[in-house]
Amino acid sequence: MTITLITGANKGLGYETARRLIDEGHTVYIGARDIERGQKAATELGTRFVQLDVTDDASVADAIRTISDAEGRLDVLVNNAGIGDSRLGIDSVNGPAALTTFDTNVVGVVRVTQAALPLLRKSANPVVVNISSGLGSFWAVTNPDRHESHTCLVVYGASKAAVSMLTVQYAKAAPDIKFNAVEPGYTATDLTAGFGGGRPVEESADVIVRMATIGQDGPTGTFRETAGELAW
Ligand code: NAP
Repeated sequence: MTITLITGANKGLGYETARRLIDEGHTVYIGARDIERGQKAATELGTRFVQLDVTDDASVADAIRTISDAEGRLDVLVNNAGIGDSRLGIDSVNGPAALTTFDTNVVGVVRVTQAALPLLRKSANPVVVNISSGLGSFWAVTNPDRHESHTCLVVYGASKAAVSMLTVQYAKAAPDIKFNAVEPGYTATDLTAGFGGGRPVEESADVIVRMATIGQDGPTGTFRETAGELAW
């Protein structure tokens, strides 16, 4: 049985990824900061829930301890929890909002990954998937053929570039664990509701599931989207 933790899994891409991995036979822990929302999602999916706020060290430690006590190891960690900029452009950019975005999207990945390392090291095939974004790719945001080059989400984009760099650094620093970053594609979720459009979560979760289910000989330190490898 593969033991999997997905952060921010009470809705959106995290929820759909949980549903798909449960179908594949994983034991999935739904990580959610809100007990009611997390419990509801876990009940709907017939799986387990851990309270996990990626901005709160104590909450992260408790969640990892719960999984450790119940399972003794963690095979797959999906660092999915994230927040976006409230508006396009620079009008809504300010220090406190930027700190919150970086605390959630970037430091959150560090908190959960660091806490999970000892449990991941007890797995025969430890895998970490970091949900980044094409908006964090220097290549995509400067390539006029890519939609990311026409969208300015200043702080969010910078935070996702940091998530991608964390992926590369962790892959180098911990070669016994596979770390890959994923761009799920522009998707209709609560994160994008203010901007409109986006493809269904069912389509975007494909690449997350693919990277969460890689085998022993799978890649590490790569950035993937649905079509294949994505340039940093
Ligand atoms: P979403 O529906 O808004 O889901 C975000 C999830 O993150 C929610 O479960 C939310 O919980 C959780 N979350 C936020 N802050 C948290 C915290 N401090 N601790 C724990 N959980 C927290 O958005 P989504 O589109 O599925 O986003 C999932 C990931 O995909 C994000 O990392 C996002 O940046 C990335 N992504 C999305 C798109 C897209 O087009 N949608 C594209 C590229 C990348 P609450 O319900 O409690 O708020």
